[in-house]
Amino acid sequence: MQITRNGSETTSGPAEWFTGAVYLDAVAVPSSRSRVNASSVHFTPGARTAWHTHPNGQTIWVTEGLGLCQVRGGPIEVIRPGDRVFFEPGEEHWHGAVPNRFMIHLAMLDVDDEGHPAAWLEHVTDEEYAAAPDTT
Ligand code: MN
Repeated sequence: MQITRNGSETTSGPAEWFTGAVYLDAVAVPSSRSRVNASSVHFTPGARTAWHTHPNGQTIWVTEGLGLCQVRGGPIEVIRPGDRVFFEPGEEHWHGAVPNRFMIHLAMLDVDDEGHPAAWLEHVTDEEYAAAPDTT
């Protein structure tokens, strides 16, 4: 048994993987035979991930605020607290906050054989982001 006390450090989302200020708290960390990786992710208004994929897919569950997500080639969807989204393995996508609200989600996935949670692509441009439905 391992207890990790509240007070372990919140980390900032790296600029190469995110646009805007994003903060991550570890919820579950892979170890031994467990491949479960879970994080509580706080997106500040306008912040979002870069385009990316997950080798074994990913579930996000929105807990607060108002968010956006998009699969490559599809429309930008508005997501709200209680909404659950599954991204298929290898599906190119991004997720983040709307321009004027925070968005917090729990993110859950299984890492691959090498321990990789994601493969990162290019940033979501301001032009791509501006195509979101008006939520103001
Ligand atoms: Mn993702």
